Amino acid sequence: MDKIKITNLEVFCHHGVYKEENVLGQKFLVSVELYAQLSAAAKKDDILQSVNYGQVCHFIKEEMEKNTYKLIETLTEKLAEAILIHFPLVEKIKIEVKKPWAPILLPIETVAVEMERKWHLVYLSLGSNLGDKESNLNVAIDMLRTNPRCKVTKVSNYIQTEPVGGVEQGDFLNCALELKTLLSPEELLDYIGKIEQKLMRIRTIHWGPRTIDLDILLYDYEVIYSERLIIPHPQMQYRGFVLEPMCTIAPEVKHPVFGKTMYQLYQEYLKQ
Ligand code: ADP
Ligand code: MG
Repeated sequence: MDKIKITNLEVFCHHGVYKEENVLGQKFLVSVELYAQLSAAAKKDDILQSVNYGQVCHFIKEEMEKNTYKLIETLTEKLAEAILIHFPLVEKIKIEVKKPWAPILLPIETVAVEMERKWHLVYLSLGSNLGDKESNLNVAIDMLRTNPRCKVTKVSNYIQTEPVGGVEQGDFLNCALELKTLLSPEELLDYIGKIEQKLMRIRTIHWGPRTIDLDILLYDYEVIYSERLIIPHPQMQYRGFVLEPMCTIAPEVKHPVFGKTMYQLYQEYLKQ
């Protein structure tokens, strides 16, 4: 992918573990590689279709002066995420923050922290079968939209489906959505847990405890198998209420284990 590189932007600010560093301040050097599609800007010779590196430099300086962190690890990660959030054309960033005057009482050229951060492409499945189902889905999606580390990019239609699994209960309203996120898989699981809790808490009074279910279907092309989290979602290939809406927003997206598209998986499901 195309990139814009900024090398050794010098900023004087007050990050550090020691009080003296916070009071006196010191020099930091920031280098970034901003990954973005630049061909439209190049063809049209139009800065508005590119990432304005002057603005990025001033933004970095302001961010570094705004807060004081103990660790350059924290500073570097905060900067990376702030740039990704503030400059929507940037899809991925490599960032290095150097601290040449680090007070370690030995002669060194510099110490530095380097990180790579990007917007991850995620698909979620949502379902509700208690209370105002449409409102439950809307509230859940709004909570994703208002998280600055999430961008909801596509939402399928809401479809009514019959419950599977044999438990006597009402019909479901289901949908799937596409999300770009800075959250790790575990952080995303925690956040959807928060959404589930919030909706349950509101509804407990009127409707009882099960109002919304959010599942992570796919996270980039990753395969994760831990105690808390299985990705791709292990049931997705058996569930029409997942595959049908996925086919409307991401028919060509491939399942990283089966190597088949959502469209192919849905066709196979329908044939069973
Ligand atoms: P289900 O979604 O299977 O009907 P629950 O929502 O009650 O059941 O299950 C939630 C648990 O499933 C969570 O505690 C979470 O740790 C675990 N889990 C494992 N993989 C995933 C995933 N891909 N998405 C959401 N939850 C998952
Ligand atoms: Mg679930």
